[in-house]
Amino acid sequence: MLRKNELLEIRDLLMEMKREILQNLEERIKSNDMSEQREIGDIFDDADLEQSREFNLLLSTRERQKIDQIETALSKIDSGEYGNCEDCGETIPVGRLKAMPFATLCVKCKSERESIEGHTTVYLEEKG
Ligand SMILES: [Zn+2]
Repeated sequence: MLRKNELLEIRDLLMEMKREILQNLEERIKSNDMSEQREIGDIFDDADLEQSREFNLLLSTRERQKIDQIETALSKIDSGEYGNCEDCGETIPVGRLKAMPFATLCVKCKSERESIEGHTTVYLEEKG
C-alpha cells in the first residue's frame, strides 16, 4: 500500500502531465489561423473545456490516450486501488510509479506481457 503523501505526490505529477497536454493544445490552437475564429477562443473560457466535443477533436490520438491513462490513474487514486499490479495484485514499487505514474503492472508482469506479445507478433508474421 502506498503512503498518503506518496499518493498525493503522484496525483500532483498526473495533474501536471495533464496540464501540460492541455497547454500544448492551447498553444497549438493559438499559433494556428484558427485563433481568428472567435468560437475557438470561447471554448477556452468554458469551465467544461474538457467535455467539449471541439476540444476532443483537436487532441491527437496519442494525447487522448495519455489523458485517458491519466484519468484512469486519478480515479484509481480516488478509489484506493492505485498502485496495485493489475495482473498479480502486488504493490507496484513507488519508484516505478513516480517514473511512470500511469503504470498498471509491476515490472515482472509487464515484461511477461511484453514477451507474450512479442511471441504473438512472431507467430503472426510466420503465418503471414
Ligand atoms: Zn504484477
